Amino acid sequence: MGKIIAIANQKGGVGKTTTSVNLSACLAHLGKKVLLIDSDPQGNATSGVGVNKGDVQDCIYNMLIDDVPVRDVILPTEIENLEIVPATISLAGAEIELVSTISREVRMKHAIQDIKDDYDYVIIDCPPSLGLLTLNALTASDSIIIPVQCEYYALEGLSQLLSTIRLVQKHLNEALYIDGVLLTMFDARTNLGIQVIEEVKKYFQDKVYKTIIPRNVRLSEAPSHGKPIILYDPRSKGAEVYSELAKEVVENE
Ligand code: ADP
Ligand code: MG
Repeated sequence: MGKIIAIANQKGGVGKTTTSVNLSACLAHLGKKVLLIDSDPQGNATSGVGVNKGDVQDCIYNMLIDDVPVRDVILPTEIENLEIVPATISLAGAEIELVSTISREVRMKHAIQDIKDDYDYVIIDCPPSLGLLTLNALTASDSIIIPVQCEYYALEGLSQLLSTIRLVQKHLNEALYIDGVLLTMFDARTNLGIQVIEEVKKYFQDKVYKTIIPRNVRLSEAPSHGKPIILYDPRSKGAEVYSELAKEVVENE
């Protein structure tokens, strides 16, 4: 049975999209069949796997708002075993348009219901807000991965995210659970990074992934080439750590 994982944190720039793209690609590389769903109007996950947003006909917006079947929206990528539901800037309107639609929080869940079991993993890249797109993702998901950047205000905003998760569990998706907290952009040269790791581990305990994602220039270069790190630079530290994370996610089952 397919497992659906939302990559969420309402803070921007914490590594959600980098994690969505590279975890998806590394899971696919392990032989898992993966669907990446881009639910951020910026569409960075879409371009990150090499899909030209200008060529996209129907995107996740049409799936959520116009009831276009998900199968008509899915595109292949150049990575074997990895397909994508792309996002374009038209999705920016969805947040507002969803407000007045029926069953506005469960539209994504219903849209992907039929294809869920065609995949081993469905990974949803969430936008940097706790609006209806993120609520749709959390309602559709089995679990959530929370990327946390190793910086001074790392834990700031997390209580808001956790209370949103509790609300979703109470009203929309009782079975939702935290798969893990992923520490990102760690810089071993600073004491701050180490302090943040300790602080996050104290708070989330065994929910923190053993794999910690360091700052790696190759990871930040890869998106402009439209490639996940395992294609862009398979020998880089970034490729190594995201492969480790993929194994950890599989083992956590
Ligand atoms: P989010 O989706 O949470 O907004 P992104 O994944 O887009 O965050 O990351 C924000 C920026 O940081 C991007 O420019 C990305 O390339 C860069 N970045 C993310 N993770 C790393 C990393 N481990 N090392 C270096 N740069 C990173
Ligand atoms: Mg993003």
